[in-house]
Amino acid sequence: MSGPFAFDTSYAGLPERFYARQAPARVSAPRVLRVNRALAETLGVDPARLAGEEGAAMLAGNALPEGATPMALAYAGHQFGNFVPQLGDGRALLLGEVVGRDGLRRDIQLKGSGPTPFSRRGDGRAALGPVLREYLVSEAMHAMGIPATRALAAVATGEEVYRETPLPGAVLTRVAASHLRVGTFQYFAARRDAEALRKLADYTIGRHYPELRGAERPALALFEAVMGRQARLIAGWMGVGFIHGVMNTDNMTLSGETIDFGPCAFMDAFHPATVFSSIDQQGRYAYANQPGIAQWNLARLAEAMLTLFDDDVDRGVALANESLAKFAGLFGDAWGATLRAKLGLAGSEEGDRALADGLLDTMQVGHADFTLTFRRLSEAAAEPARLADVRPLFADPMTFDDWAARWSARLARESVTPAARASAMRRVNPWIVPRNHRVEEALAAAQTGDMAPFDRLFEAVTHPWDDQPANADLAAPPAVVDREYRTFCGT
Ligand code: AMP
Ligand code: MG
Repeated sequence: MSGPFAFDTSYAGLPERFYARQAPARVSAPRVLRVNRALAETLGVDPARLAGEEGAAMLAGNALPEGATPMALAYAGHQFGNFVPQLGDGRALLLGEVVGRDGLRRDIQLKGSGPTPFSRRGDGRAALGPVLREYLVSEAMHAMGIPATRALAAVATGEEVYRETPLPGAVLTRVAASHLRVGTFQYFAARRDAEALRKLADYTIGRHYPELRGAERPALALFEAVMGRQARLIAGWMGVGFIHGVMNTDNMTLSGETIDFGPCAFMDAFHPATVFSSIDQQGRYAYANQPGIAQWNLARLAEAMLTLFDDDVDRGVALANESLAKFAGLFGDAWGATLRAKLGLAGSEEGDRALADGLLDTMQVGHADFTLTFRRLSEAAAEPARLADVRPLFADPMTFDDWAARWSARLARESVTPAARASAMRRVNPWIVPRNHRVEEALAAAQTGDMAPFDRLFEAVTHPWDDQPANADLAAPPAVVDREYRTFCGT
């Protein structure tokens, strides 16, 4: 019997120095924890086969699915501002690519499948908690319409991994448009490998931006297209209160998907300086720093691509700078559109950005919950009396009243009906996001073998637009906002 994956792996056609061929490590007792049936079907894979014994062996790395060409991909990256010329997949293997029923090509990757030539001092393993965390949050992001890598399966290995303490081990099957990163270009730029840079640019264009093939300067067009996707992605993150937490250049894709859900988290009370990651002591990757960091990372990408922009270095630098200068506008437009949608504004007026910023400032001062504020505004958009439900979210409700009067005046100049406005707002302002305290609860239960809280939370956060009265406890902010909450990236 063939399959279960119909691999068609274009990456294997790139030169050998793009990756290291590596078989996954065997584990003692693989057990499938969860399979993403809908995603399996999109990929043309039979979910029942993945969920069975054969699937467990394949998804844990004990048996290679037919046609798999496991490889650890090479990349470099700036980690917290410091350049590391060789990172690479130290705990992940690309099994191969699959063209789905929707015609889209995707990578199938095992994460936590054992050491590779890129492991450095790492053990190549992943712990159950971070695997389930990525499974949950990546699928929640996808459900909210934010480009993100996906999760096809989580399997327990039956082995322990050692972090500060022994933890149950697991392997995630990650699905991505590709695993090409800013750091992939940096890897070859650091080696002054002009041929590899050219091949990488051609490959990236062919895979993600085929419309640029005929461009006058394809590499520059590629750079600008990546910039555009990243600008929209960051605006999408910020629109749902998402903080990635570790926006190193090796964690920034060329496809424009969110990748690596290590220390990420969603904000409860709004504050632009919010940061959760335990290793981010300077707040480099805080909520409001994300656009600036994206631009910094893109500047590193431009540096790595410089020789592709023009044969003349000075001309290449001038072109790069000209392009980079567009980022602020690209992000500003994307963020402005996100905010207008969140406020229910179909039209566009001069003062809209100030109106939105006025709300954010009021929320910051009033410690208002990010998700609840916008969702309740969506209800008030249909029924002004329900502004009464928004007010108590603010420490000083009168400050909200002042803002609400401005908003109501602005809405009066819109031609959309209140009902249509409210329904549009309910499609951009989630009813629920995976809040830290609920994610932690679900993961803690899973560690003891109880998957019920995980399943319940997963079901809730993958239907983010729906009102779910039975899950009100999962949608509510923590009783006491935990300002000391920290996330760890020990995947
Ligand atoms: P991350 O912080 O998850 O983006 O990973 C940064 C780099 O560290 C990548 O090259 C990873 O492959 C590597 N890495 C992280 N954890 C491990 C591990 N447990 N074993 C080997 N390499 C790892
Ligand atoms: Mg990474």
